[in-house]
Amino acid sequence: MTEPLHEIGEPRTYGGNVTVRVVRAGWFRPDAGGFFGVVPRPLWSRLTEADERGRLLCRLNLLLVEAGGRRIVVETGTGVRMEAKDRDIKGVEGGDPAEALRAVGEDPGSVDFVVLSHLHYDHAGGMVDADGRPLFPNARYVVQRDEAEAAHGDELRVQGIMEVEQLDAVRAAGQLAEVDGEVELVEGVRVLRTGGHTRGSQAVLIGSEGRGERAIFWGDLIPTRWQIPVRWTSAYDDYPVEAIEMRDRLVRQAAAEGWWCYFTHDPGDLPIRIEATDRRGFRAAE
Ligand SMILES: [Zn+2]
Repeated sequence: MTEPLHEIGEPRTYGGNVTVRVVRAGWFRPDAGGFFGVVPRPLWSRLTEADERGRLLCRLNLLLVEAGGRRIVVETGTGVRMEAKDRDIKGVEGGDPAEALRAVGEDPGSVDFVVLSHLHYDHAGGMVDADGRPLFPNARYVVQRDEAEAAHGDELRVQGIMEVEQLDAVRAAGQLAEVDGEVELVEGVRVLRTGGHTRGSQAVLIGSEGRGERAIFWGDLIPTRWQIPVRWTSAYDDYPVEAIEMRDRLVRQAAAEGWWCYFTHDPGDLPIRIEATDRRGFRAAE
């Protein structure tokens, strides 16, 4: 592997003077069958290839966003509390957001907000440190209320999947900010409840409307550029019909308005734009 475990991308500035950098927090190898769900292998294998264990080489991408004198980290990776066997199965290398930030010269103590797209292990595992304390000591952690409630709910599908302990540790420390729907954290940075992937999944909309370019961080609603076709539902989408409809609405808008796209598991250069195809679909713009 030639790329480093941790790296930080060049800053890009969006409308309202919002600056975004991609922080690579390690590697992650999801099972290709699960990741592509309903999509037949002959179709997805045009875009990427699986390793000898049937896994795809992906990244754990965080964003470091600066706006209005505030610093926002989007996603926390797997953290350090996964068991070795799980790390092996899922091909996790790195995954500690504090280590990733320090490796690129950034201090987790300087972060004001941490946005969790949802509470699966590869996004919310790094909410706390090895001792179970909030890993970002001065941050408020932003989670959709629906997601926090789902984590504690009685749906069998969700039990044991969500990072409930991490959520509760952050709540007990008084650092949890539950939000409902579309909320502006600071000027030019908004979270938007999308649902679909999980009950309370959220995306992040970046850049003030009418003041320059805009961007979106998709969370696992679209984990990589390979999953831009809106019907390409992953086996991990809890609400696939809702996911398809929300993807269609947002992808359409992203293509029409030229939003720059950040994907949480994409191993390639980010951001990219989405364009319409001549067959009424959408794809990554070259
Ligand atoms: Zn994920």
